[in-house]
Amino acid sequence: MEFVKLNNGVEMPVLGYGVYQTPADITERCVAEALAIGYRSIDTAQAYGNEEGVGAAVKKSGIPRDEIFLTTKVWISNAGEEKAAASIDASLKKLQTDYIDLLLIHQPFSDYYGTYRAMEKAYRAGKLRAIGISNFYPARFIDLQNFCDVKPAVNQIETHLFDQQKTAHAYLEKYHCAHEAWAPLGEGRTELFTHPVVTEIASAHEKTNAQIALRFLLQSGVIVIPKSVHKERMQENFDVFDFTLSDEEMGKLQALDTTSSSFFSHYDPKTVEQFMEWAK
Ligand code: NAD
Repeated sequence: MEFVKLNNGVEMPVLGYGVYQTPADITERCVAEALAIGYRSIDTAQAYGNEEGVGAAVKKSGIPRDEIFLTTKVWISNAGEEKAAASIDASLKKLQTDYIDLLLIHQPFSDYYGTYRAMEKAYRAGKLRAIGISNFYPARFIDLQNFCDVKPAVNQIETHLFDQQKTAHAYLEKYHCAHEAWAPLGEGRTELFTHPVVTEIASAHEKTNAQIALRFLLQSGVIVIPKSVHKERMQENFDVFDFTLSDEEMGKLQALDTTSSSFFSHYDPKTVEQFMEWAK
């Protein structure tokens, strides 16, 4: 496994396993399979309702805790200093661990400054090894990062072949914050798996389109956490370190960027209203 050194010196695997939309009753099985394949970074969230399954799989795996990198996220309904602090303790309990490797603010809504202060306190108390944010696009990221003490180590944002986030990447680099992709495979809903440019490059390397998409992000300096509940696909998504895309191939893939979201925009008022509903 390759690692990226975060801004506080903590090392994070560049490839992990995500469990968004993984039903609670199969999460333990899925995470156990991912760990058996070799994944050592797991990405969950309070809002996914499956932290218990992640914790159980890690505990039962017998793998030393310090060889596994656990990420979870504080949901909007737990925003604010007091509620966020209590939610961190609840996540620790569900994950059956004394510390979380990376805690992120899930969404840039409600009292996220209060949430961040709770995270800074928990970081100083040794409950968190690194703290960061998610879905903070450049304007909000620059704001928060200027008015906090412990600078965010990671920003997890939608990033894939069709929305490459080059502007966000440049600002994250400027402020020494690692760029992590959510939906690195476009949630399986984009034309990634049939696109002729991706398919041609995949055939040249005897790889699949999914592997090309992940390799492209890794070579672009982006951390990836693909999700699959199928063991063969988990394995496929893990096998992306035995080939390299050429500069020409990287250029062809860079040209696929539409610079807009394949799902929704955090700046769309209707979307924000929907988040307010989910926050209740
Ligand atoms: P993803 O891009 O990882 O796509 C997953 C889907 O792609 C699968 O459900 C399946 O349909 C398909 N797929 C996976 N591997 C495949 C393969 N090898 N071949 C063909 N199809 C394949 O989408 P995601 O799960 O949304 O994102 C990854 C992780 O990012 C999540 O599990 C979660 O941990 C995190 N995430 C975070 C946020 C956030 O707001 N912070 C939002 C979404 C996801």
